[in-house]
Amino acid sequence: MSVDPKALSVAGFDPWEAIVARMAQGGRLAEVPEYVIDLLAVPKRILEVSIPLRRDSGNLEVYTGWRVHHDTSRGPAKGGIRFHPDLTVHELMALAASMTMKTAVANLPFGGSKGGIRCDPRTLSKAELERLTRRFALEIAPMIGVDRDVPAPDVNTDEQVMAWFADTLWMVSGQSAWAMVTGKPLVMGGISDHSGATATGVVTCVQEVTRALGQSLEGMRVSIQGFGHVGGPLAFLLSSLGMRVVAVCDVLGGVASRAGLDGGELSKYATEHGTVAGFGLGDSITRDEFWEVPTDVLIPAALSGAIDGPQATKTTASIVVEAANGPTTPEADQVLADRGIMVVPDILANTGGVTSSYFEWAQDRQGFAWDPTTHSSRLKAFMKRSFAETYSKANQLSVPMRQAAFALAMDKVAQAIEVRGIY
Ligand code: NAD
Repeated sequence: MSVDPKALSVAGFDPWEAIVARMAQGGRLAEVPEYVIDLLAVPKRILEVSIPLRRDSGNLEVYTGWRVHHDTSRGPAKGGIRFHPDLTVHELMALAASMTMKTAVANLPFGGSKGGIRCDPRTLSKAELERLTRRFALEIAPMIGVDRDVPAPDVNTDEQVMAWFADTLWMVSGQSAWAMVTGKPLVMGGISDHSGATATGVVTCVQEVTRALGQSLEGMRVSIQGFGHVGGPLAFLLSSLGMRVVAVCDVLGGVASRAGLDGGELSKYATEHGTVAGFGLGDSITRDEFWEVPTDVLIPAALSGAIDGPQATKTTASIVVEAANGPTTPEADQVLADRGIMVVPDILANTGGVTSSYFEWAQDRQGFAWDPTTHSSRLKAFMKRSFAETYSKANQLSVPMRQAAFALAMDKVAQAIEVRGIY
């Protein structure tokens, strides 16, 4: 399929071009063969599908969906399924490439993929969402398989969507291939708290980066942008470690406290009200004021592109830990580097979710569930190892951690490509 990048770029910013440039930079730092950089600058395969949906009203509508395999040199493709009204194939290509990099940084035996449907799930009934999911599963079935490509939840999809997706493929194949999809409900071979794993991985990175810099977490200030699946648990987890959560915001507004917000009370409030805005045990702030609250650690856990030039100039943080995918623009990256601010990049910091998916896949293949303690201690061990590898690569090459993470990932992917050979 040929793709016109300009037709598919979002508001002038092409996330695919941005990640291709970062992969090329990492590849050159790692001194991988030039043909590997060229190979990874084109996704391995893309399937575009039309998905007819009969609405509850009886009307028929046609939606567009895609599944992108970016690279499978290190193992089956791995990546989420996203439902969003602004979804473009270029965004999916970038997210699939990011998965190739993440699985390599996290030492998981996977490549990278991503898929989804351009749709607004808020306008669909539950029955319509189920029909749309099942038809999409059938249309992209040739791309999916335990040893081919293993989907998981992403933006606007959850374990129920994964249950419909897996059930459809299992019904038509007559086989309950549990490891074909991750992020499933427990009764279908899932694991508890799939999205909590991403937050746990972020927390491990906060612990490791402060340890590496010889700083103590006790009393350290932290600000969190976004209070969803990933950002939500962070306030509680980080305040439990002795950090002061001085500012939190979501799409509707924010709250700040110099003494530190009560993570438990804030979670309770957000669950009841669907937002942190209006939380009484702190001062109300706007989304813009969030960036001005004095802090030591900044955790973007909301949108991509959230930290642009002005935010990078304003923040007082000395450490940024990227929980969101692509939260820092290339321009802001330069500002942060010039200001000596340490950035733990997304392709390292938010790999807790995909690592947990790997554990689900491994247990489903084994047909044997690990006890939760084994799961959580292995998750921490994986995160610590990938942090240590990236940190030491950054020191060895004298580059920021993002460039080091891309260099590490490109090196691992290149090794697999080289040893497998081209035919
Ligand atoms: P979510 O939809 O559950 O939460 C998003 C949060 O961001 C919400 O609190 C929302 O109000 C807030 N937000 C949206 N627009 C905002 C704005 N303009 N200003 C301030 N806050 C805003 O999403 P999530 O699953 O928590 O994912 C958050 C980020 O983490 C995304 O970039 C996602 O790609 C990434 N990520 C998620 C996972 C996972 O396991 N869920 C794994 C890896 C990466």
